[in-house]
Amino acid sequence: MTNAAYPDLHLWIGGRRIEAGGRTTEAVIDPATGTTLGLLPHATTGDVDAAVAAAADGFKVWRRTSAIERSALLRRTADLMRAEAGGLAALITLELGKPLPEAAREVETAAGMFDWAAEECRRSYGRIIPSRTPGHRLMALREPVGPVAAFSGWNAPAITPARKIAGALGAGCSIIIKPSEGTPAAALFIAHMLAEAGLPAGVANMLFGNPGMVADRLMEADAIRMVSFTGSIPVGKHLAALATRTMKRGVFELGGHAPVLVFPDVDVEAVARGAAAAKFRSSGQICTSPTRFFVHETIHDRFAAAFAEAASAIRVGDPFDPATQMGPVQNARRLEAIDALVEDARRNGATVMAGGARIDRPGFFYRPTVLAGVTPSCRAANEEPFGPLALVASFRDAEEAVALANRLSLGLASYVFTRDLALADRLSAEIECGNVVVNHWLVSYPETPFGGVKDSGIGLEGGSEGFQAFEQVKFVSLAPH
Ligand code: NAD
Repeated sequence: MTNAAYPDLHLWIGGRRIEAGGRTTEAVIDPATGTTLGLLPHATTGDVDAAVAAAADGFKVWRRTSAIERSALLRRTADLMRAEAGGLAALITLELGKPLPEAAREVETAAGMFDWAAEECRRSYGRIIPSRTPGHRLMALREPVGPVAAFSGWNAPAITPARKIAGALGAGCSIIIKPSEGTPAAALFIAHMLAEAGLPAGVANMLFGNPGMVADRLMEADAIRMVSFTGSIPVGKHLAALATRTMKRGVFELGGHAPVLVFPDVDVEAVARGAAAAKFRSSGQICTSPTRFFVHETIHDRFAAAFAEAASAIRVGDPFDPATQMGPVQNARRLEAIDALVEDARRNGATVMAGGARIDRPGFFYRPTVLAGVTPSCRAANEEPFGPLALVASFRDAEEAVALANRLSLGLASYVFTRDLALADRLSAEIECGNVVVNHWLVSYPETPFGGVKDSGIGLEGGSEGFQAFEQVKFVSLAPH
């Protein structure tokens, strides 16, 4: 896809495209070239109010639509996404900068989110509770929460909106989603698929704009009953405070700084090569990206050398080039952030084993970087890099490894590599994280629950648990008259 094929951007409210008109617009930038892809209209306060009204009306229709019909619509959306997978993958690559095959995998996973919700919504069973009074029937029924306000970041521009929209719609909720302004066309593509699949007007709405204004106005709206947020910790905490004040339910999927514990009984070089592939996927801009590598002291140097060698061999370049293994980071802010973390570590005595510099070409390119000897006082040891940066340090024994993993106030993903499954079992109980992955790198599937602990968030997405987050339980007690 070329810049010329980039679609016109718009808002989507009440089943209608809202074009820029006289609205403020924002340039969407191609991270691989730094050029402007298109102009994104910003919602006015009136647009936000119109979206709330549309979602309230949409909810009245959708909550009365049978689970079987909702399921069929979600299934059609998944089928349409697969039929149009090439176009959506190209938009992801254009806006995010990740290589095309990775973007194609994202489309398949996003379609899988719709499949999962299509299946799960047919099984939204309640319970009959044995009554202590003869003739009384006690029922716990699952109902949709109501209109949902959702916010997503730019790093998984199809998966994150898909997960939120599919879950909400499957449960019978309507939704207003504000995807990231950095990757709007990928999200709008999903909106078009929903419309084509026959979703009634107002059930799903998409806004872009000044994030603070849009979020504050949505959170103040009485009609909105739930917030589902994926993004950074400070913004997540701000929205969680607003949700508490206005008594809305919330799911908050926030940042991580994933530890990886590598024990000496593994194939060191194989794990190091796998680590490089996992770390630099999507230029490290994944909330579950493995970042803090803690390696047993007897294999530390071997692991660091093999990891650095594999990182240095990664081909960085144009994400549309089939030879490319890693593209740019998504925006100039990330480039500056990574630069600052690496410079700070360097000043504090860290060793640059691989990378450690920008790549001198247009766009936002940074070399796959591996640092050793990063002390706990370095910023990189404490702040999520959200970019192509990994840290390697050593540990003496399992106790120290767990203490290092648990040192931060973050707890999203963690990884353990050992052949000793009893040890892995013990560690998976002791590591303070929402997800522990042993001997591989895949953290999340449509059918499995995903969420963080500590500052990494509240609540779950994915799996039955994530689906039920969009439902509330109503207790009904029936007695004969
Ligand atoms: P971000 O917090 O800047 O943006 C996320 C969303 O919030 C966007 O829609 C954005 O426009 C909106 N937003 C920004 N400022 C706002 C404000 N003041 N008020 C209300 N909304 C606002 O995050 P990002 O930079 O897009 O994403 C990176 C972060 O997201 C990282 O920390 C990463 O770990 C995290 N993340 C977490 C998960 C997860 O599932 N746990 C998944 C992906 C990313």
